Amino acid sequence: MLSDGRAPPPAIPARLDAPTGLLADALGRPLHDLRISVTDRCNFRCVYCMPKEVFDKDYAYLPHSSLLSFEEITRLATVFVAHGVEKLRLTGGEPLLRKNLERLVGMLSSLRTPGGRALDITLTTNGSLLAKKAQSLKDAGLNRVTVSLDSLDDTTFKRMNDVDFAVADVLAGIDAAHAVGLGPIKINMVVKAGMNDQEIVPMARHFKGSPYILRFIEYMDVGASNGWNLAEVIPSADVARRISAEMPLVSLQANYNGETAARWRYADGGGEIGLISSVTQAFCKDCSRARLSTEGKLYTCLFASRGHDLRALLRDGRSDAEISAAVGALWNVRADRYSETRTINTSGIDEHREKRVEMSYIGG
Ligand code: SAM
Ligand code: SF4
Ligand code: SF4
Repeated sequence: MLSDGRAPPPAIPARLDAPTGLLADALGRPLHDLRISVTDRCNFRCVYCMPKEVFDKDYAYLPHSSLLSFEEITRLATVFVAHGVEKLRLTGGEPLLRKNLERLVGMLSSLRTPGGRALDITLTTNGSLLAKKAQSLKDAGLNRVTVSLDSLDDTTFKRMNDVDFAVADVLAGIDAAHAVGLGPIKINMVVKAGMNDQEIVPMARHFKGSPYILRFIEYMDVGASNGWNLAEVIPSADVARRISAEMPLVSLQANYNGETAARWRYADGGGEIGLISSVTQAFCKDCSRARLSTEGKLYTCLFASRGHDLRALLRDGRSDAEISAAVGALWNVRADRYSETRTINTSGIDEHREKRVEMSYIGG
């Protein structure tokens, strides 16, 4: 730790002959997917992510000068793409709160893989501003969106977003995104026992036969402020059982290695759903995701307590080759497998929890 409390920048190897190009971490996992948090702010206060008691009016959000600029993000993304990243996901906080996000989308959509292919550029959003922004995002080069929606019932949804936001406005955002071709659209529902688990079957019913893929996410112990408790997790197996009782499901092959959601289809041809079992069935084995925080720290795991300060390298005037070598060196030693070890040891709450960064900062 530096005297001003910042994490030291990643070490730049003395020799820059390796590692460049495609990478494999200490467990043989490639680097394929980069999630970029563009803001730590949000207009929702979801109880499982940014509870009001912590994220109140006195909460110290990052000052604008700390945020990576669009030019800095694009420069880092270029380095990651040269190391094998083919998929970029913009997230936050609420990414659509970042001013002129379309300009960043445009800059990122001009990047190409070493093989000359365009990237897959996606965005995860709470949907609140989507109806307004869908067309301009599409025009800028965004490929797809994932929209979070935890309930179809206004009372339950408002209890979860805690800012009185109505379901109809999110549904309007989803429809607008579909109309402009930002699909296939995925809908993320975080299931919290006693809060919205009664909505599992109604959500499945509503989205069955629609162009949208509903994904049920196990409530995770991410960050340090949501008061997570194992008893509030509904295992994906239970979700599948509840849906299957009314609408039989058949399991499907993964689309690709490292896919977070297990895929299931309705036996009657009514489309598919995804189950993200981050707690009961860890998928670290194929995890090829890196995360870039709003202020430019690289996190090699969602549950990491420490990031590596790439912004320091950018602002210290380091060359692309030096930054590339630093990213390569960090990925090469990566051995994160938090969810697997947590599954093995599940005893309740992790003792290092206080030190973990929040999901709104690191990007979900
Ligand atoms: N604000 C955007 C949104 O809500 O879609 C993007 C950021 S949010 C942190 C990304 C995703 O993480 C959302 O789908 C959200 O539901 C999910 N998420 C947040 N906290 C979670 C938790 N404790 N467990 C599981 N998923 C969580
Ligand atoms: Fe905001 Fe998304 Fe977190 Fe909800 S899940 S508080 S919308 S960042
Ligand atoms: Fe990847 Fe870490 Fe999640 Fe495992 S716990 S899947 S290593 S982000």
